[in-house]
Amino acid sequence: MNIGAQYYRPPFPEERFWKDDFTKMKDAGLDTVQLWVVWAWVESKPGAFVFDDYDRLMELADKAGLQAVLSTCAELHPYWIHTMVPDSEMIDHTGLRVISGNRCENHFGLTPGGCFDHPGVWNRMKSFLETTVSRYAKAPNLAGWDAWNELRWKYHSGNLVCFCPHTLTRFRAWLDEKYTGLDNLNRAWMRRYNSFEEILPGKEPDRTYTEMMAWQHFMTWRSDEHGKARYAVMKALDPVHDITAHAATPSPLFVGNDAAPSSPEYALERGNDWALAEALDGIGCSSFPKWFKIDDAGFGMRVEFVKSAARGKKVWLSEIQGGRSAIGFTIFDPVDAASQQRWIWNGIACGADKLLFWCWRDEVFGRESAGFGLIGLDGLAAERIAALKKTREVLDKHGELFRHYRPAEKAEVGILFSPQTHYLAWSQEGNSRRPVNGVAGYARALTRSCIPYVVVEETRLENIKDLKVLFLPRLLVTDERGP
Ligand SMILES: [Zn+2]
Repeated sequence: MNIGAQYYRPPFPEERFWKDDFTKMKDAGLDTVQLWVVWAWVESKPGAFVFDDYDRLMELADKAGLQAVLSTCAELHPYWIHTMVPDSEMIDHTGLRVISGNRCENHFGLTPGGCFDHPGVWNRMKSFLETTVSRYAKAPNLAGWDAWNELRWKYHSGNLVCFCPHTLTRFRAWLDEKYTGLDNLNRAWMRRYNSFEEILPGKEPDRTYTEMMAWQHFMTWRSDEHGKARYAVMKALDPVHDITAHAATPSPLFVGNDAAPSSPEYALERGNDWALAEALDGIGCSSFPKWFKIDDAGFGMRVEFVKSAARGKKVWLSEIQGGRSAIGFTIFDPVDAASQQRWIWNGIACGADKLLFWCWRDEVFGRESAGFGLIGLDGLAAERIAALKKTREVLDKHGELFRHYRPAEKAEVGILFSPQTHYLAWSQEGNSRRPVNGVAGYARALTRSCIPYVVVEETRLENIKDLKVLFLPRLLVTDERGP
């Protein structure tokens, strides 16, 4: 198990802080540092990869006795992407090309950039991943890879995407394979389509459910496939270290659309944690409890969702709030040590493999500046660091005990997570808030009552026989035989 903190999102912090910070991180009881390896930054000129800063950071971390998790941000595209790969822009649901721009909290890199269904874009992304993994796979202090940060792929697209020819071709091929031909699809849907080209991708809410749900299901599958593709490229070059990915929030809590009014989303368009965990070495999620007013039951629930999705694979708490959040000119509640310690120990109790704070130092530029640092300026850094040191002492003193610890309690209670219900809810209302609230309600109640439970995804029912009770919160779609 590693406890660490995110450190580098280029170009910050500046080099003059690195050595001293790493010594302080180690002193604080941390053993791991996370670095964002940003494609736009590393390959700012096509084909010319510059890793000088990462080489130095890896070396300094190693000297300080810190391991490193490398987070490959292949979704932050170089500014040259559309010049080198013409016609690679995403197309939104109104038929317009998406004009990419800078990302709100990142200092260098194009978002959303090109569509990864365009082979030219994917080949370039792949080359970035291959070059990065080849360079650091054998680094002595590498602890693992976070292959996809918060499962982002269309951040700031400004509209629903992607309706480019490459994505639509893939959608129709997916339908063809799923239904084994047009006749079967017409039979199942009760339609009279003459060709797959006549089948329009779902567009906006409050339209025909069948086409809308199929489109959303495809969007989820497409993200799952992208996660698997990143993993395959990386695993081929580094079969030794764990490679995971993490979402901002676990799948059952992803509401789509109104969660991000500036960039509307389909239900589960960022993928399904269960499918990703099946293919990767594990799965994680971010949690900023003081920012989003998540109480202990809410935090515990998130960890349970990730653990349920992981099904025995690695659980990473990939971004735990380090210090007070600051967004623009709004300052949120400070992070007290006691709350933060409850998050850590909740993660340890769930058998988490990596606990990574966001982040070590307060951000220094842009909308997140003066926020998030474990050693940040919210007035409580000293108590947080003292508590972390204490935790490290406890972990070291009882190392043997913790090494053998496994969360043993077998759940007899389950909660069904139904992606199809999310798709249907979105198809009508433009978000999945109703099913999310349903799942969250049961999960919070069970967490508060200390009743062990497992979240069961609707297509992966293998452990259902161990359950005495299965809650079906707001279930609108199910197989006629039932789950
Ligand atoms: Zn596309």
